[in-house]
Amino acid sequence: MPACTLNHTAATLTDGSELTIPWWHLDSGRDGEAFLVIAAQHGNEVQGCEVIRRFRAVCERELTAGEVFLVPFANLPALRHRRSHISLGPEQPYGEDSGHNMNRTWPGDPEGNDTERVVHALHEAVVRHCSRALDLHSWTRFIATATLARRNGGLSEEMARASAIRFIQWRNPPTSQTGGKTIGALFNDSGRGSITIELAPQWVIREREVRAGLRAAMNLAKLFGMIEGEPEQLEGPCAEMGPETADHEDRYFELTAPCEGLFVEAGLQTSEHVEEGQLLGHIIRAGDLETVEIRAPAPGYLYKYGAFRENSDVGLPGQHPWADEGDCVAAILQP
Ligand SMILES: [Zn+2]
Repeated sequence: MPACTLNHTAATLTDGSELTIPWWHLDSGRDGEAFLVIAAQHGNEVQGCEVIRRFRAVCERELTAGEVFLVPFANLPALRHRRSHISLGPEQPYGEDSGHNMNRTWPGDPEGNDTERVVHALHEAVVRHCSRALDLHSWTRFIATATLARRNGGLSEEMARASAIRFIQWRNPPTSQTGGKTIGALFNDSGRGSITIELAPQWVIREREVRAGLRAAMNLAKLFGMIEGEPEQLEGPCAEMGPETADHEDRYFELTAPCEGLFVEAGLQTSEHVEEGQLLGHIIRAGDLETVEIRAPAPGYLYKYGAFRENSDVGLPGQHPWADEGDCVAAILQP
């Protein structure tokens, strides 16, 4: 049985107070990778916290090689603030971060703002010791759970394929080198492997996504030879997109509202498979109260679902089912 220790890392904040972040460390006592699983860099993205709690129990029973570093509450101040960054107010978008977007500040700065100080403390105590990373995030409920990775023929790509998440979004390495990095870039730029999983939605914890996140963490540990067994595969193919639009545009069908009105979903969920012609929902048209059906133009997996628009991740109006003509109501991606 590997020993699991509870550790605390302290950061001194700008007002002189001390913040401590708790994390777990499990050591098999044998050589192997040092696997980091981190969640809640954004305080409203909380599904990964429960994934980590369950993954800890798996590692306590099954870890046979290497070490695991588990940080369920990476951005504890933002969790307490109940928003993505500590600097955000009501309905303020992620982009207005004032330097407090934790996942743009790695490896942090001990003399920086409070978020940079927390990152610096975590980097020194935890992250710099790790050779592989799984970074758990969440995005809006209207976009399906997806793995974000680099299609580089290397570790990130291999990890993405092992994650058994329906959608893989390939991303190019960031071009700007000013300021801090994402934790994914920190690892992938230094020859260590990392993927991000966006477990939809934010703000809540759902059993389906927690299980998908736990399977991904276990599959990665199996890939790294840290726990026994073969990775558990996805049922059916995964649907890949990017890094360029041209890489998927012939397999991607975005549906927009053909008229103004109230979009009523037909009880489907993102990631579900739909058939060509299947009813996705309808619009109760504003002008004449007619029912306008929205049907799938092609078979595939639901990548987007529901009427939404900008800032649906931070405010309720962005999630309102009242659709303007042209608002996205669904998108289908084929494998
Ligand atoms: Zn995030």
